[in-house]
Amino acid sequence: MSDLFSRLNQIAHNFWWSWQPEVMAIFRDLDPELWNEVNHNPILLLRRLEQETLTRRSREMSIESRVLYALRRLSEYLSGEGTYGKRNAGPILARPVAYLSAEFGIHESLPVYAGGLGILAGDHLKAASDLGIPLVGVGLFYVEGYFRQQIDEKGHQKEFYGETDVNHVPMRRALAECGRALTVSVETPSGPLLAGIWTTRVGRNSLILLDSNVEGNSEEDSKLTARLYGGDDEVRLRQEILLGVGGLRALDALGIHPSVVHMNEGHSALASIEGIRRRMKEDGLSFEDARRDVSLRTVFTTHTPVEAGHDRFEPELAEAHLGTLREDLGLTEQEFLALGRVNPDDDEERFCMTVLALKTSRTANGVSSLHGHVSRRMWRNLWPGRPEREIPIGHITNGVHVLSWLAPTLYRFYERVLGPRWAHRMHDPDVWTGILEIDDGELWEAHQVMRSRLVDFVRRRASDESILEPKSLTLGFARRFATYKRATLMFSELDRLDELVNSEERPVQILFSGKAHPKDEPGKAFIKRIHDLSRDPRFAGKLAFVDDYDIGVGRALVHGVDAWVNTPRRPMEACGTSGQKVVLNGGLNISILDGWWAEAYDGTNGFAVGNDRCHADPDVQDERDAEALYQTLRDQVVPAFYERDESGVPREWVRRMKRALVTLAWRFSADRMLIDYLNRAYLPAAGGLSSSFD
Ligand SMILES: *Cc1c(COP(=O)(O)O)cnc(C)c1O
Repeated sequence: MSDLFSRLNQIAHNFWWSWQPEVMAIFRDLDPELWNEVNHNPILLLRRLEQETLTRRSREMSIESRVLYALRRLSEYLSGEGTYGKRNAGPILARPVAYLSAEFGIHESLPVYAGGLGILAGDHLKAASDLGIPLVGVGLFYVEGYFRQQIDEKGHQKEFYGETDVNHVPMRRALAECGRALTVSVETPSGPLLAGIWTTRVGRNSLILLDSNVEGNSEEDSKLTARLYGGDDEVRLRQEILLGVGGLRALDALGIHPSVVHMNEGHSALASIEGIRRRMKEDGLSFEDARRDVSLRTVFTTHTPVEAGHDRFEPELAEAHLGTLREDLGLTEQEFLALGRVNPDDDEERFCMTVLALKTSRTANGVSSLHGHVSRRMWRNLWPGRPEREIPIGHITNGVHVLSWLAPTLYRFYERVLGPRWAHRMHDPDVWTGILEIDDGELWEAHQVMRSRLVDFVRRRASDESILEPKSLTLGFARRFATYKRATLMFSELDRLDELVNSEERPVQILFSGKAHPKDEPGKAFIKRIHDLSRDPRFAGKLAFVDDYDIGVGRALVHGVDAWVNTPRRPMEACGTSGQKVVLNGGLNISILDGWWAEAYDGTNGFAVGNDRCHADPDVQDERDAEALYQTLRDQVVPAFYERDESGVPREWVRRMKRALVTLAWRFSADRMLIDYLNRAYLPAAGGLSSSFD
């Protein structure tokens, strides 16, 4: 028995388990109730599991042979034979890519993410692992994570913080040879800033997390990494010093020498400063030569057209914390600040991390085609005199890690119809054409099961068995409650919503979930409005708000909704990825033509809301988009869902489900995204070749 226990623990210590449906099923089968209680954390499950239960359940569920099989598969996986990377990653096989990000969303049991940026980083790591592309993630360990959310009786968002017990997550402290904990140190004008290093396994790759809670730090600094996006500008800047500068030093301390540095969003841009410092010190280069050299090997991805999404620091604050690093580069204050300024001569301009990143990378990219355009316009002043189309910012559209977001039921279904090796080739469009062979009724039946599971899930969370209908058209809307995402657009005209929701023959129900940043009062007001309407007799039981949105809630929603509503104010949504997760599970998108949907929608694979024109007055635009949303729902979505043939199958709806899978699943997979990064960014950077962005 103790063998079994230690084998289970071994599996739990590599996040690989979290995207293997059969392995997840082992943990769940040990104790389904406890599995939910521990929020799908296998290490915690194993700690809490009674020996007696383990013995009994392993007999009943043939756990032992399943565990042996899982371990064999893990070890095969780790050997990494025959991967895409082995054939195509060239110099990166010898020296990995370092991928720096302020958030990583690997799994709900390691809450060091807030939203899409983090989930994307997690998916990036997993896809790199699956493809055999050596890539090491570098981030921060926020022991309290991002806030947890409760909605009180009045609909107000209450924020609270949990604390991750390091014994309950698969992290290990990095140790020096003498056995002491490794630390990194960064000089700042107020003294050295220290951090310990945690490592965790994500398939074949590692994620390294820095933690300022170590001896030697001031009390303030030891709390520096406690919370994600929880502090003021000073905390933010010092976190970014740890991420960028500390991050590269941590890699060095671990003996990892990356060939490429990928800065995921501006938060990690100070990595360039550290890279330059090192080249100057170690190779005696001038600042300019070192900068050129570092830029050649640096890749930057920008993630938002929203102004407030770009970190900017007051010049005094920047100097107060970066002054020591600046002196190491031999720059005057003005020369240094110019690295983060659009106009180097403007002494008032704040120091912007995005600008620093753009000035010190070889290739920069937005995360969808439209976002590429918007970013070129947004930053064109950095390249005065160049026409917009020649601004060196391209795009690589985001994708999602298929096995992390696909429902296990469908996984088995696809394995049967697409062939057992489909998961190794999911970036290949040909693999997905097999979807067209599936019997409409069978696909529909599978989807119905998923919808009713989702209804059960929401009822359980709400402790209310009376809400929702398992057979009604079920729409989902879940994402951060940033106001540009317009969660309440659907509420612009309540009478029309009433008509949709309360139709006798063709009812609609809507699920919401998401957090508003603690300082975002308008975002919180959106949540309150949804909450209030869900209590309004007209909408009670038809609208539901699921609190504490996280990866686990996200999974449940994308598995079971019929359609996903996405109503950002164009062109503010850089990409958006939740709708891509829905596609994999046979759900349809009802979306403004923004972000990924602007390039994904082809007239047959989902629904468009409005057109591609924007009005300068946002109120006018909101009004038009609300009108378009009601029309699309009434005239297209509802009829397609409810018009059934004699066997009860909505042929038109299923036709769209299949079209969505065939045209979108491969294209918006993280595997396709990684291959794009490899060919268009990593390989040119690793080889010092010129860039090839469009
Ligand atoms: C996918 C996901 C997001 C990102 O969703 P967008 O559509 O990009 O806004 C945010 N949070 C969670 C928990 C997710 O799973």
